[in-house]
Amino acid sequence: MMEMEKNSLFIGGHWVEPASSRRIRVICPSTEEVVATVPEGVAADMDHAVGVAREAFDRGPWRWMSPVERADRVRRIADHLAGRAEEVARLITLENGSPLGFARQQALGPVGILQASAELAARFPFSETCRGLSTTSLLVHEPVGVVAAIVPWNGPLYLAVSKLAPALCAGCTVILKPAIETPLDAYVLSEACEAAGLPDGVVSIVPGGRDAGQYLVEHPGIDKVTFTGSVEAGRKIMASCARRMTRLTLELGGKSAAIVLSDVDVEAFIAGAIAGMTMNSGQACALLSRLIVPRSRQEEIVAALSAAVGRLKMGDPFQEDTALGPLISSRQRDRVEGYIDLGRREGATIAAGGGRPSGLPRGWYVEPTIFVDVENSMRIAQEEIFGPVLCVIPYDDEEEAIEIANDSRYGLHGAVFTSDLDRGFEIGRRIRTGSFTVNGFALDPAIPFGGFKESGIGREGGVEGFRAYLETKALTAPQGYEPDERWTGGHA
Ligand code: NAD
Repeated sequence: MMEMEKNSLFIGGHWVEPASSRRIRVICPSTEEVVATVPEGVAADMDHAVGVAREAFDRGPWRWMSPVERADRVRRIADHLAGRAEEVARLITLENGSPLGFARQQALGPVGILQASAELAARFPFSETCRGLSTTSLLVHEPVGVVAAIVPWNGPLYLAVSKLAPALCAGCTVILKPAIETPLDAYVLSEACEAAGLPDGVVSIVPGGRDAGQYLVEHPGIDKVTFTGSVEAGRKIMASCARRMTRLTLELGGKSAAIVLSDVDVEAFIAGAIAGMTMNSGQACALLSRLIVPRSRQEEIVAALSAAVGRLKMGDPFQEDTALGPLISSRQRDRVEGYIDLGRREGATIAAGGGRPSGLPRGWYVEPTIFVDVENSMRIAQEEIFGPVLCVIPYDDEEEAIEIANDSRYGLHGAVFTSDLDRGFEIGRRIRTGSFTVNGFALDPAIPFGGFKESGIGREGGVEGFRAYLETKALTAPQGYEPDERWTGGHA
């Protein structure tokens, strides 16, 4: 296969020479071969991008355009991506090894996110009258300013667009930094932004490493950081933002629990549990990586799960029937294998998997692995592994199950499997996570998503996610002055 080569960076809506000669080598996780090289963004590129974004925000037309006009441009980005969805899906599979079926969801999901954001923004009350105790004010919801968006490699386009779409609809200007592992889909996103005819300076997309990310976060021209990735990086970013009170949204890791109630129909719940364990080959923040099961039904449940995992096809992610692909890198495989060894040493037992699959000499594959006899205090039950590894933890009564689910420093997602939906909702209310599903594993980009506890701060998606890109201003005039239609007509 011919190596792809890109030589420019998309800064402020233009294709420009990179500031340095440094290159990113994109390695395909299933073949371990270099498939592309692209310029690596460095501090000087970030200076350039922030400079034009600042200028565009402070003096450009974007933030003063009507929400409907902005929404129209955002829909054009969606149209462009929709027309290239298959190409994008294949690029994602090439760069991060996602099975093609799942990569297709990652290519089409962003189209829906852009459309939903545009629709929401076009009818959002950007200004509203607010009656106080002695005054009447106009509340104006203004764009927060220049946004630095930093995303990881596991759902590259989906996570990027989850930030870009609401930020643009709100009237912000954006510098997006894709992960160094996955810059290829970001080139298509750049082309989509170019095709949408956004004003100069509004969007820059600069792939780069941690140093470039850190430099961007600390840049004095940035008003808001929105980040998805590891807790460790999130903590550092939060500390950096504290210095200048830079606004911040963090979407971090998880160790989400699925509670299985004793009334469950095992056959009915298997598909949801397997999806919760193996989504994106185990590399997703919302995975249901702890399964909390009634001790009396543990054996039956583990047997059914092990049989189902054994039927999953692992291998070339480009093949249509592949359910599990490789992990992103040899480093990530080392990390996951390190946790599998740790689980054995901690006294857990492997019921399925535990090694590398046979017949796949190339690619960073790890078998889907089920641990039983897990205690929730073990590190394999407390730490995010980011691989296809499930911890099965038995309980004796439902109160204990709820306690185990909540005994985590994370609070991203969760689920319950039961025949009694009311009981499922009752349990959902008691679990301290940002989202929770009764009987399934479902994520919807138009529903707010985010974490309690160390899983993050703030929400993405829906109105709550949109508000993360706005600042509220109270404009107050002397008593007797009533703001008229010109002010309350909905524009920011
Ligand atoms: P990471 O958090 O280190 O990197 C994610 C993104 O943040 C990348 O674009 C990276 O360049 C950037 N970044 C890293 N440190 C930064 C900093 N100090 N300032 C600004 N930007 C910074 O994740 P990783 O190295 O790709 O993976 C490490 C681990 O993180 C994984 O094993 C996994 O457990 C976890 N992870 C979680 C998620 C998630 O969605 N929760 C996603 C990816 C990785």
